[in-house]
Amino acid sequence: MEITHIEHIGIAVKSIEESKKYYEDVLGLKCYSIEEVKDQKVKTAFFMIGQTKIELLESTDTEGPIGKFIEKKGEGIHHIAFATNNIEDALKDAESKGVRLVDKTPRKGAEGLDIAFLHPKSTMGVLTELCEDKNKK
Ligand code: ZN
Repeated sequence: MEITHIEHIGIAVKSIEESKKYYEDVLGLKCYSIEEVKDQKVKTAFFMIGQTKIELLESTDTEGPIGKFIEKKGEGIHHIAFATNNIEDALKDAESKGVRLVDKTPRKGAEGLDIAFLHPKSTMGVLTELCEDKNKK
């Protein structure tokens, strides 16, 4: 597969309202979008740094993936997302190389990206997201 850049880093937070202050007031970044991804039971907030984003993830349901993550590990880095120009091929490629997939086919993530996760058991504990921006083409 061909990875073009780090699309974003996903960070689990208890409260976007609270953690936004650090990113804006201390780091001087600007939150340009807050969006709820119902299917993932999260609210997301985005900050742009070059062509990479920081994605803050706040759980909207304690039973959702971010709710469970925070309960187990607390706040912190949740996943890293790599941009690719062909997510279907990238997934096939990863699977053919023995990587366990969380998503066998891409689904819609925040910002209308096509996304799919690789299983952390196959990626040395780093939950890895692949994404493709089909809107830009
Ligand atoms: Zn993500």
